[in-house]
Amino acid sequence: MILKVGITGGIGSGKSTVAKIFEVLGIPVFYADDAAKELMNKDETLKQELIKEFGNELYSNGALNRSYLSSLVFSDPKKLTLLNAIVHPVTIANAEKWMQQQTTHYAIKEAALIFESDAHKQLDKVIGVFAPTPLRLQRVRQRDNISEDAIVARMNKQMEEETKMKLCDYVITNNDLELIIPQVLKIHEALLDFII
Ligand code: ATP
Repeated sequence: MILKVGITGGIGSGKSTVAKIFEVLGIPVFYADDAAKELMNKDETLKQELIKEFGNELYSNGALNRSYLSSLVFSDPKKLTLLNAIVHPVTIANAEKWMQQQTTHYAIKEAALIFESDAHKQLDKVIGVFAPTPLRLQRVRQRDNISEDAIVARMNKQMEEETKMKLCDYVITNNDLELIIPQVLKIHEALLDFII
């Protein structure tokens, strides 16, 4: 049976960057954020549920109006909770199905909200990616060209990093001092040892 591994961390911690290194090692990665976006555009049952809660304006010509959705949930925590309560279970089920189709020793699900959405219950191991907050702010500002206030607002909606890392089985430190490739290789070997 395949070992199901999660990669998590706060916004801009470097989850995707770390996940891509595992991909280079031949490990398949499920990117939860991308999958959720795709499901919101293609899964008819999910679309109908979202329209019921957030209105017809959520879609234009069948495509999700992401900026409208962001504006709805950004300033209303209840709406964000509702959105997550609708989208997360569908994405988790989709990840589970995807995991079953993989043929490698282990496969990875990359997601920001693994513990917050209870997705860890479906995973055997979780890898946390940790980077200091000022560095995360700097990296996201460079990547997305958005204001520091907007990034901080998103950070504040996520579980506190130190708490999250304590829940993880392995932690990768992604600061400017430690190389991430050797850390990934060490975990890769530990996971293979765990299985074989
Ligand atoms: P999000 O939660 O917003 O999706 P993330 O945790 O997946 O973010 P990445 O997208 O991997 O984070 O990294 C954020 C930005 O920082 C990217 O532009 C990435 O290229 C850069 N970055 C990540 N790690 C490093 C590193 N070790 N050195 C230099 N740049 C890095």
